[in-house]
Amino acid sequence: MWWKGHAILTLIMSVFTFIITGNITFTILFFLSAIVIDIDHYFLYIYLVKDFNIFKAYNLINDIRLGRRYDVHGGKYPVVFHSIEFMIIIFLISLVFPIAIPITLGCYFHILIDLMTINPERFKNIYSLTSYVYKNGFK
Ligand SMILES: [Zn+2]
Repeated sequence: MWWKGHAILTLIMSVFTFIITGNITFTILFFLSAIVIDIDHYFLYIYLVKDFNIFKAYNLINDIRLGRRYDVHGGKYPVVFHSIEFMIIIFLISLVFPIAIPITLGCYFHILIDLMTINPERFKNIYSLTSYVYKNGFK
């Protein structure tokens, strides 16, 4: 989803989070994790394009999201923090370290928004790191 949509929906959810928990640290961690999770798209951009320009990365990722481009990573490469494996790992970590609970919930909220707004055909190829490596190896 576009960053403004994520930011607005996450801000609204953060208000509810604060009302429910009354904990500002929990709320800030929830908000930040729900936004910062998209950094993996930038990491993938750096890896694939060999460039650090965050503005070019944003434009390219946005073009892919809008279906204007598919030539770089659209629908092919998994993004680490959006993968099912990462979701399982952070869930397990939050069972041991309660400080990770708001981070886990923030990431899950982000993925929920992504699932509601991304073409499911595109998402089915990129949800699992294991599935990607099984099909393509480490390339
Ligand atoms: Zn996302």
